[in-house]
Amino acid sequence: MDKIETKEPMIVHGKIILPYTHSAGRVGSRFLRELRDSKRILAIRCPACNRVYVPPRSTCARCFGQLEEWVELDGRGTLITYTVVRYSLPVHPVKAPFALGIIQLDGADTGLIHMVGEADLENLSIGTRLEPVFKEVREGSILDIKYFRPLAP
Ligand SMILES: [Zn+2]
Repeated sequence: MDKIETKEPMIVHGKIILPYTHSAGRVGSRFLRELRDSKRILAIRCPACNRVYVPPRSTCARCFGQLEEWVELDGRGTLITYTVVRYSLPVHPVKAPFALGIIQLDGADTGLIHMVGEADLENLSIGTRLEPVFKEVREGSILDIKYFRPLAP
């Protein structure tokens, strides 16, 4: 058997472009409409186990209950974890460097993945209190929230 060092590496050329379209569904559509039209972040509560989801979903992941009870959040939350993206890719919504975090909004039991802006990326810390900053022109996308920024102390 040949030693691995003697083998030429194989080069694979490819191009992946995956534009897609899908329905946001009844629950996702309301969530996105509220972001776009009212700058409101809505969650949904499970009547059986009380778990509050944001983004909202139609079925509870814990107990499979049907979710109908909408809850308006004020948008503030806590940074649970994050990473700093240092290399730009075409799929990123903004140029690197930027922070991508999981934010647990007050009143929700789940984490929302979003960017953290107006922050010192080298000194971000888990537990930072955040608030949403909405775009002026919104189009019904999670990116209608431009990012979350640290709350003024
Ligand atoms: Zn449940």
